[in-house]
Amino acid sequence: MSAHDETRLREQISTLGRSLFDRGLTMGSSGNISVRLDDGGWLMTPTNACLGRLDPARISRMDRDGWLLDGDKPTKESFLHMAMYAERPQSGAIVHLHSTHSVAVSCLPEIDPDDCIPPLTAYYVMRVGKLPLVPYHLPGDPSLGDAVRGLAGAHSAVLLANHGPVVAGKSLEAAVYATEELEETAKLFLLLHGRNPRALTPEQIAELEARFPRD
Ligand SMILES: [Zn+2]
Repeated sequence: MSAHDETRLREQISTLGRSLFDRGLTMGSSGNISVRLDDGGWLMTPTNACLGRLDPARISRMDRDGWLLDGDKPTKESFLHMAMYAERPQSGAIVHLHSTHSVAVSCLPEIDPDDCIPPLTAYYVMRVGKLPLVPYHLPGDPSLGDAVRGLAGAHSAVLLANHGPVVAGKSLEAAVYATEELEETAKLFLLLHGRNPRALTPEQIAELEARFPRD
């Protein structure tokens, strides 16, 4: 990867981080973004950084073993990203947010832990698919990483109970789009709660998955 490509990725992380922040999908210093580099290392948003005000030059750069090469110290939630990447060689970027509607769904007692949100729209099925719930853990608990790792091979997105989504994509743009689709569908799900909405049928889902395979 050329220095030019890395500069472009740092700017893209900052631009998309600000966009997520400006639209209220993340707040305070919560939420983090990472991108896998061609040399096997990563760019990762720093600890205690606000996604709305990232300095591209201070984004953490880590080598393939997770050691910091330059920039600020990476987010304390970097282990969530590493757990996902370890099981998903096809994924090039990961977004983790504490986005309100997704967190709200993660707190509902009656959701299906194998698939937290019904297939309400075609775009949700295409970008997210099945969304399993990861049981609640203390923030930073390494066993949370193990729990994510156990699900990440078969799922590009997982929902951490009482915490928020972790979403992988082929590219940074794809990971951000999938995170936005998840948050909007969580909002729809809450709007429709108790109204017995008509979800897509298994046949409609099979047709979508055949035509538009996910990464
Ligand atoms: Zn978090």
